[in-house]
Amino acid sequence: MAKSADSRPPKPARGASAPATTTQAEEHEDELRALQAARGRVDALRTQIRDHDYKYYVLAQPEIGDSQYDALMRELRELEEEFPELLSPDSPTQRVAGQAAEGFAVVEHREPMLSLSNVFDREELFAWEKRMVRLAERDDFTLVCEPKIDGLAISLVYRDGRFERGATRGDGFRGEDITQNLRTIRTLPLVLDADPDTLPAAFEVRGEVYMSKAEFVRLNEQRAEAGEQLYMNPRNTAAGSLRQLDSRITASRRLNLFVYQLGWVEGERPASTHSGSIEWLKSLGFPTNPLTEIFHSTGEVSLFCEAWVERRETLDYEIDGVVVKVDDITTQRVLGAVGREPRWATAWKFPAEQAVTRLREIQVSVGRTGVLTPFAVLEPVFVGGATVSMATLHNLDHIRELDIRAGDDVIVQRAGDVIPQVVGPVLARRKGDPPVFEMPSECPVCGTAVHKDPEQAAYYCPNRNCPTKLARQIEHFTSRGALDIEGFGEQRSAMLVEQGFVTSLADLYDLPARREELLAVEKIGEKTLDALFEGLERSKQQPLHRLLIALGIRHVGSETARALALNFGSMEALRNASLEEIQSVPDVGPIVAEAVHQYFQDPEYQAQVDRLAAAGLRMDEDVSARGGILEGLSIVATGSLEQWSRNQVEELIKRLGGKVSGAVSRKTSFVLAGEGGGSKRDKAEALGVEILDEDEFIQRLRDLGWSEGE
Ligand SMILES: [Zn+2]
Repeated sequence: MAKSADSRPPKPARGASAPATTTQAEEHEDELRALQAARGRVDALRTQIRDHDYKYYVLAQPEIGDSQYDALMRELRELEEEFPELLSPDSPTQRVAGQAAEGFAVVEHREPMLSLSNVFDREELFAWEKRMVRLAERDDFTLVCEPKIDGLAISLVYRDGRFERGATRGDGFRGEDITQNLRTIRTLPLVLDADPDTLPAAFEVRGEVYMSKAEFVRLNEQRAEAGEQLYMNPRNTAAGSLRQLDSRITASRRLNLFVYQLGWVEGERPASTHSGSIEWLKSLGFPTNPLTEIFHSTGEVSLFCEAWVERRETLDYEIDGVVVKVDDITTQRVLGAVGREPRWATAWKFPAEQAVTRLREIQVSVGRTGVLTPFAVLEPVFVGGATVSMATLHNLDHIRELDIRAGDDVIVQRAGDVIPQVVGPVLARRKGDPPVFEMPSECPVCGTAVHKDPEQAAYYCPNRNCPTKLARQIEHFTSRGALDIEGFGEQRSAMLVEQGFVTSLADLYDLPARREELLAVEKIGEKTLDALFEGLERSKQQPLHRLLIALGIRHVGSETARALALNFGSMEALRNASLEEIQSVPDVGPIVAEAVHQYFQDPEYQAQVDRLAAAGLRMDEDVSARGGILEGLSIVATGSLEQWSRNQVEELIKRLGGKVSGAVSRKTSFVLAGEGGGSKRDKAEALGVEILDEDEFIQRLRDLGWSEGE
């Protein structure tokens, strides 16, 4: 029987385990054969791992789960240990995976970004400590524990108190220069909160860029609505976002950052301990993880780590373990590193969050816009600390791509602890040839014939009065980002539709007039009802852009809504705008413009907006932020100013409608250069961009009609 490339060779018998009767020559032959078998397997494993690395790190589209990947890596490591002659410097075990994506400059890390050894339980943690005790000849370590963020490791270089360059970790020695993209992360300080004279000339900070679970959900909802392929998990989405060649895309994803280490320092180190360094970084304005704790024994550390396995769900970001570090930096140096792993730190890894279960059937749910979303009904399975019985399947294309069929055994993952996901079927366990899933031709809620958007993967129910659709619209209308009215959750919204209280969103504002009816039908107290009505009343004061979000116009998210509201100023102006006028709004593309225009052409929606206006909802935007004197200008500020701190002047520019940019380019309108403007001033000169000093800047503002104090 031919062996498949994936099957593992039998453990070769070596040395003492050979039968006593074999001659030395036979024994030698056996060894050679075993070595050969191992060599074939090692080659196959390396090819597979590199392939997965590429998909994971470069394409951000992993094909297998972490635990499967770890298993391949472990097998390779074991074979290399058993047959050291097969070990080679280019083996994946010998480097940190990842490679530079085309289009980014390569950055050589001044000090390599090492990876961490792993422990999985307290025995392994104790063994780790024991090794340190032996090497350092002491046993009184102070240990710092911090959640291990499942994101993307980065290196940030600061010079003269300013962010100079940021890079990915890459292979640990060389990464990609993603400075522009990192600048878009709002929590990353561009200028440090300290007098540059008191800071080391330059230093490196290491951290982890991540995407919150909430942002991941928001992004995927947006993509589902646009019929685009959905992202797998927050980690890969964050990685993909950071590697965008167009940093505007990066900016539109709200990435976040925690810094976890001070790297090299030009000049004196600010502290002799790791925790002291972190405190120092925090004082300079870096985001540091508040869950960090200090312990004096590995017993305490174990309790901390074990507790986090349970509590990880409560965080709004993914963690996949806890990092344990020796606090004292001199001791860290004594301990040093072995290979590419420091001895003074280790990662307590959480168990993998995947499980296999039976997919009973595929059902379809209806969303706010009527889009039908297939989901998996699963045999309940315990994964990632919770029992999962349902998982989204996103859309038909997704199901077809993964070839998921009802009756399959499937791998379920609690992706990002967010929504359970089906990673894919276990094809080896499929029996026969079960039918391929088809989308229903009728809406499962109201029975209306389903439409397919020819340009997008989405199928939807076109019935405006589809009850589930309307209930979801109420939830959206009242949600925090929209009109922010509490009390209209899933159940109450469904009840209001079912009982006929709401057949159009505008009906919500008639509810107070139906107080007695509501009290009779729904068993809620008067107090709750009053709170609900108060919320409705308050919501009337929300500015136009909130109302635009609430209306749920296709493709109109918070940023588009804001742009439209600021541009047109009132609902009336927006309603009367031509398609061309809508399209001319910055950041509004043709598809979005078309959707907005169509919405206001629709008589039914027109009537709804009229009723909302009649109910007393505010229909305009505070446009004082619009048409500022610096509107349309892109301004770079550099050096230190007399009258303002960097933050203050950037705030001022923004308040006056200008755009603050971190880097000088041909598109820069002018550079405001204070004392010691340095490289940005040079760049502006080289590009022929106008440079203003502080006085000239103030004069320019006055010329434009600025009055001090504005
Ligand atoms: Zn329907």
